[in-house]
Amino acid sequence: MTKSKVFFEELITEIRRIYGSGCVPLHRPVFEGNERRYVVEAIDSNFVSSVGARVDEFERRVAAFTGSAWAVATVNGTSALHVALELADVQRGDEVISQALTFVATCNAISYRGARPVFVDVDLDTMGMSPSALREWLQVNTLLQEGQCCNRQTGARIRACVPMHTFGLPCRVQEIVDVCQEFGITTIEDAAESLGSYINGRHTGTFGRLSTLSFNGNKVITTGGGGMILTDDEGLAKRAKHLTTTAKVPHPFEFVHDEVGYNYRMPNLNAALGCAQMEKLPDMLQIKAEVAMSYRNFCENHGIAFVTAPADTQPNYWLNAIILENREERDALLVYANSEGVMMRPIWRLMNQLEMFKGCQRDRLENSIWLADRVVNLPSCVPDGAMRRFET
Ligand SMILES: *Cc1c(COP(=O)(O)O)cnc(C)c1O
Repeated sequence: MTKSKVFFEELITEIRRIYGSGCVPLHRPVFEGNERRYVVEAIDSNFVSSVGARVDEFERRVAAFTGSAWAVATVNGTSALHVALELADVQRGDEVISQALTFVATCNAISYRGARPVFVDVDLDTMGMSPSALREWLQVNTLLQEGQCCNRQTGARIRACVPMHTFGLPCRVQEIVDVCQEFGITTIEDAAESLGSYINGRHTGTFGRLSTLSFNGNKVITTGGGGMILTDDEGLAKRAKHLTTTAKVPHPFEFVHDEVGYNYRMPNLNAALGCAQMEKLPDMLQIKAEVAMSYRNFCENHGIAFVTAPADTQPNYWLNAIILENREERDALLVYANSEGVMMRPIWRLMNQLEMFKGCQRDRLENSIWLADRVVNLPSCVPDGAMRRFET
């Protein structure tokens, strides 16, 4: 037997030790608090749609948890990104810098604005946007025209930059914000995966001018489907709420809308679920950290690279990842684990390799390509029954 075959078997044994027998998914929502009660209360109140006390409460809870001054709930994370890009004045024909190593929603939202993504490389350790790659690309490829950063090749304005905190590992976002400021570019953090992740005690999603969260079923906490826009700017927050609620002018009975808005507000039913989830978030984060420590110890003992965050950061351990020797070993593990009923998956296909983003400008993406061949995600959900110890 080869070395890797032995390692594969021992890894599956370790996962079975954590999660027990049966199928082991990558993610699974945890509803062990007041979820049912709050949802039934919302039904009984008849406030199930876009107006209701739970929406305001959920926004307040997430703002308090993240330390963001304002939080505006939306139907999903993609719509939050869409509106954040509009608030950053991204217009048709503009360009927005992002990472090739991300979930497709980031780039879809850029496309909804009629803008085009430009892809810069990620750092190997954070798997998030590299500030040095960003600076290098901007220095070589842009010039300042009337205070606006423009692409030398296409002539397009570069309006915004959307770094992403991959798998909940905080990227070097303060450095990215600093580079963007130098070039007159607005930073929007895609913090969809990083609720509960901090840099030097400061929550991710509070560094950019705007940032977005997702509460999809696979994220740290879920509202079924949902998202949020975070900002410290009151004007932007008010506009975010206006745009996501059909741009309706407040009036006791008349329907007047003063621009083309969106029906992107989170329904009260979903927010009710979110309020209950927020109550359990600290406990879930603690258990996820313990799962990650088990994986880290296992990997250290087996000489396998386990992806850990830089020392000054506290990740939420949303999704654990290991780095294998090469693509062959990666594929062998994926086939073996999935045939054993233990779900594992490779990192996303790089955005510049997807049909719709093939022509987009990019740098060499050296680290992105290297990681795409080697990263495997491990099951990272909260184990069955693990929440019981917090019950009083
Ligand atoms: C989940 C996710 C989103 C938003 O997804 P929705 O399903 O629309 O809530 C955006 N970006 C990243 C990186 C994500 O992982």
